[in-house]
Amino acid sequence: MSGNRYHERPVSLGEPYADLSPDPVPGCAECSALDEERYEARKRRKFAAAVVAGQRIRNHGRGHHA
Ligand SMILES: [Zn+2]
Repeated sequence: MSGNRYHERPVSLGEPYADLSPDPVPGCAECSALDEERYEARKRRKFAAAVVAGQRIRNHGRGHHA
C-alpha cells in the first residue's frame, strides 16, 4: 500500500466560526465594543448574536454599517 501518504493536511478542528471572526481593529472603539459583545455572546452560547457582532466588526472598513 503506497500512494496517498502525503495527502494528509492539517486537521482543523478549531473554531467552526473562524472565518466569521474577524479581528477587531485596534484603536477603534466600536470594534472593541463589538468584540466584547461577541465574546459575551459566545460565553452565553448565543452564536447567532456572536456571528452578527463579528459581521459588524468586519464592516469596520464601511464604517460599521451593516
Ligand atoms: Zn471598527
